[in-house]
This record gives sequence, structure tokens and C-alpha cells, in this order.
Amino acid sequence: MPKIIVPMGAPGAGKGTQARLLQERRGLPQISTGDMFRALARAQTPLAQEVRAVQSAGKLISDELVIRIVEERTEHDDCRAGYILDGFPRTTVQAEMLEELAGKQGHEIVAIFINIPAELLEKRATGRRTCPVCGEIYNVYFKPPISEGVCDLHPEARLDHRSDDIPEKIAVRLDTYEKQTRPLLDYYEASHRLHQVDGTREPEPIYEDIEKIVNRKS
Ligand SMILES: [Zn+2]
Repeated sequence: MPKIIVPMGAPGAGKGTQARLLQERRGLPQISTGDMFRALARAQTPLAQEVRAVQSAGKLISDELVIRIVEERTEHDDCRAGYILDGFPRTTVQAEMLEELAGKQGHEIVAIFINIPAELLEKRATGRRTCPVCGEIYNVYFKPPISEGVCDLHPEARLDHRSDDIPEKIAVRLDTYEKQTRPLLDYYEASHRLHQVDGTREPEPIYEDIEKIVNRKS
């Protein structure tokens, strides 16, 4: 049965990287609600006009409207062998709606949780430094430059530290994520659709695990 893949994981867990690998190697399209809303802003379909009317009235886009947008997009031929979702579902109500859509499409939902301890995510983010000249990314904990604070190739350049990557801001990001996602994780756990992979490793071994899950017969 074709799979609807729902990648899950905290910011920095590597969801984007894994989705890109799945897209490149399996040819599965990534269906991003953010991209769809940007496309709808320009489209001339009845659905696009409806979305614009809601937005210009300053109202929130309802779950029911979001699922219709997802449904319209995933009825295209490129989604027949399955697809990867990005930005959806965000709530258990949306997850239930997706369940219904999957039934209609004859697809199976597979939620993949890239699990990384918060402590490691914090170090990855707070330790990150970037060379302003070549863009090389260092990490003071895991991949420090030869001399502290400067790029190996550009000793004249002080490495940048993003102001968002301070511990307080990261703690807030992770906390927000946890609060928003916990109910969804519980939902997928209870419906036996949740698969966990160890996200502390490099992207390739993580991808191998994900591929095994996606290949599983259902
Ligand atoms: Zn450099």
C-alpha cells in the first residue's frame, strides 16, 4: 500500500534533511502546506478564491479548509505512489481528517518520529558557528574550528553566532514544540502508526532506518 509519510521531530532533529532524501531517492513528492498556501495566493481556482476570502476577512483557516487543500493537491498523479507531508497534520483533529483522506486514497499513514534528546538538540544549536566568508558550519562541541572563534580557511574571519541560537530561545522553541506535538505523538502511538528512529546519528543511518519502515509491507 502506498504510504503517506508524516515526519515528526523537534526543530533541528533533521526532518527536512530526511524528507529531502526520501524525495530524491524514492521520488516521493513533499507536500508542504506552507508551499501550498503560497501557491494558492496566486492561483485562480475556486478553492484558492475561497482561501483568499477567508484570509482577507482576517479569519483563521479552518481545519476543514486545510484538509481540502491537502486533498486537492494529493489527488494529482505524482502522489499515487505515496507522499511526504510537511506542516500537516498539526493537531489531532487534523490527524483524524488525514486518516479519512488516507482511507479514500487507499494509502497508509506512517508517522516517523526522529527522536533526539533535548540536551543534544540544545548543544547542536547553541554550539553552531558559521564562517561569514565561506558559510562553513562549525560546532564548538562536535566540530570545533582549529583556532577558537575563527574559520580554518579564513583565519581573519570571526565566526558568527546566530542570536536565535542562545539557550533561552532554544529552550522556548523546544518547549513550544513539545507542547504542540505531544498530543500528535500520543495519537499516532495509540493508533500504532508511530515509528521511532534514533536521531542522534548521522543522516545516512537515520535514512536507512526510515527506508526500512517505508518499505515494510502492510
Ligand atoms: Zn571560511
